[in-house]
Amino acid sequence: MTSPLLRHHHRRRLLSTCTRSLKWLSRSISLNPTGRPQQTLASSVSRSGTALHSGDFTTARLLPAAAGEGRFFVAGHSRPRTRIPAAIGHVVDSALCTTLARDGTRVRTVEHLLSALEACGVDNCRIEIDGGDEVPLLDGSAKEWVEAIKQVGLCVAEDQHGYTLDKLVPELHEPLYLWHGSSFLIALPSQKICITYGIDFPKVPSIGCQWFSSFMDESTYTKEIASSRTFCVYEEVEGMRRAGLCKGGSADNAIVCSITGGWLNPPLRFFDEPCRHKVLDLVGDFSLFAQNGNQGLPIAHIIAYKAGHALHTDFVRLLSRSSTELRERLLR
Ligand SMILES: [Zn+2]
Repeated sequence: MTSPLLRHHHRRRLLSTCTRSLKWLSRSISLNPTGRPQQTLASSVSRSGTALHSGDFTTARLLPAAAGEGRFFVAGHSRPRTRIPAAIGHVVDSALCTTLARDGTRVRTVEHLLSALEACGVDNCRIEIDGGDEVPLLDGSAKEWVEAIKQVGLCVAEDQHGYTLDKLVPELHEPLYLWHGSSFLIALPSQKICITYGIDFPKVPSIGCQWFSSFMDESTYTKEIASSRTFCVYEEVEGMRRAGLCKGGSADNAIVCSITGGWLNPPLRFFDEPCRHKVLDLVGDFSLFAQNGNQGLPIAHIIAYKAGHALHTDFVRLLSRSSTELRERLLR
């Protein structure tokens, strides 16, 4: 049997080994030690509500997970239930929301929950979905997810042998960019994480052109971003409803703007709430770059203009592809 003192010594040794290694994933990205251990939830917590697309009443139960497991969903009707890692390789559809799938089981609208977990440092988490195939939308922001995380608190995650793992964070070393039509996403090397986001709705005067820019840490995210709600244009939603989408969308879980009538359910929580919500979505989508309980959001200045889930996830694929190509070259 290992004495507690020896176990402690082993843990320290493991941490310091990780701390020395700076792993280059490609010319553009490295994984750097933070000197802090990976975390998980101190106990389980759940939230239930209406799902945006199906209109089903669903529940997401968040449970602690071991160091190195990362964030993953448990969903579907098969026994055992399907485990779907919250990783870019499992993204199947990103038009109106981000959807993950594996072996015929899917989980839709994962972005707001993942955004809160990434921003609050919940590196390892088991998420059980019941009542349908979607994460409940709650009030359309990440506010209630952040509150749920704060309610139970975090603790240091251990693996099955009782070891802790140093949390690694990706850092960008050269510019990367992607564009589609007039939309673009650029990431530039930076000392800390910064996000700049622009949107432009010339036909919807109450939204119009908005820019938001800030460095991003847990405190900024909680105060400035987490409570920004999903927004939609009233005239477009009617078309989506006829196509069988957004069945669960309502004035309780989105801010709705009419082309001619302005905001239909004021007040807004911030004058630029739509643009801030896009930052919330971006953090959720970039969290899909995370592997093995490490951080997904890279240390970089990320600049997005008129982007959405599809461009966000394409960019994360670009990050992942360049990492994989280098790994394969090194193994040859
Ligand atoms: Zn969103």
